[in-house]
Amino acid sequence: MQYILDRFVRYITVDTQSDPTNPAFPSTEKQWNLARMLEQELKDIGLSEVVLDENCYLTATLPSNVEHHVPTIGFVAHIDTSPDFSGKNVNPQIHKNYNGENIVLNAEQNIILNATYFDDIQQYKGQTIITTDGTTLLGADDKAGVTEIVSAMEYLVKNPDIKHGKIRICFTPDEEVGKGAHKFDVEAFGAEWAYTMDGSEIGELEYENFNAARAVITVQGKSVHPGYAKNKMVNAILVSQQFINGLPADEVPELTTGHQGFYHLHDIIGDVEKTTLEYIVRDHDLEKFNQRKETMKSLVSSLNQKFEEDIFSIEIKDQYFNMKEKIAPVMHIIDIAAEAMKKENIKPIYKAIRGGTDGSQLSYMGLPCPNIFAGGHNFHGKYEYVPLESIEKATKVIINIAEITANKYL
Ligand SMILES: [Zn+2]
Repeated sequence: MQYILDRFVRYITVDTQSDPTNPAFPSTEKQWNLARMLEQELKDIGLSEVVLDENCYLTATLPSNVEHHVPTIGFVAHIDTSPDFSGKNVNPQIHKNYNGENIVLNAEQNIILNATYFDDIQQYKGQTIITTDGTTLLGADDKAGVTEIVSAMEYLVKNPDIKHGKIRICFTPDEEVGKGAHKFDVEAFGAEWAYTMDGSEIGELEYENFNAARAVITVQGKSVHPGYAKNKMVNAILVSQQFINGLPADEVPELTTGHQGFYHLHDIIGDVEKTTLEYIVRDHDLEKFNQRKETMKSLVSSLNQKFEEDIFSIEIKDQYFNMKEKIAPVMHIIDIAAEAMKKENIKPIYKAIRGGTDGSQLSYMGLPCPNIFAGGHNFHGKYEYVPLESIEKATKVIINIAEITANKYL
């Protein structure tokens, strides 16, 4: 396992933080550093068609080693890390034979990973836990995924007795800023289906995510001198509250879980003359999702009726859709992944993602793409950690998927 650990550490010590404020692609130049390093590594391993394109997408091929036809499958991971927390000078701490207790990340600054609060960690007792030093994120999201894919490809090159069809891999930039799939060339990738290695806890197998929209409500007020405002002023800030209060108070992120959808008011910009409310709308169920958008629109019209003037306006834009719709017709790709996990004594955990993934966008671009655990926990912050054993298991899951797929089409 030492070589897997060394590889992972090599990747996380390259700063690849993406930037949501930069419209350039990729959003940060430094992502090229890891992309170029990986390009060389994939060539050294012996993969063919290693291409780093002008948008910082790195693709490569492991050719089939069987005579019969096997569908080409793909594995995808992202090289960038979250803009939410620093990814510079990552200084990983290796905790061998973890004892189930709190982990001191940084004694000097008294930063502790509390094993009661983050109780998921209990299941990894006895394993090797890789943590941060409390000052950065770790970057297991998604360099664990990158490590797993590279390690699995290397293993398959070195062990030609394991039979597999053609395998394509892709490392994308800018996933954390929502653009990871934007310049993904699905046609050139040429896979029938793929898996993102970008989930969390060991066993996760995800093929459901939110349907998502963004709504902006604009309230046009009337600013009048406050001393002479009677029956003339319309205070857009105050009036906007009627819209806020018109939505169900308990359908918000902080009160919902599982398959429950929500309206999330995340920004208000306003003065007396004009106030805008920015919402995101989320639901796994397409019908309920559409209902939510209708609810917002009809609230706007009923408020306009009440004020006898169109002071409210609304603009709704869809952002992404639940990949389940695209996966349902090809459920065998989930069955193959589940079988690959069971072979390693991992119980598949089917979770509905309360967000989106690159895979959901790719699925709608014609590449069905569920998500498999990469092993890390507590993404996007200083408490991020990953058990080395989970990285190793995910690597084996990739190898198993390749082998099972080849056998299925025998
Ligand atoms: Zn990720």
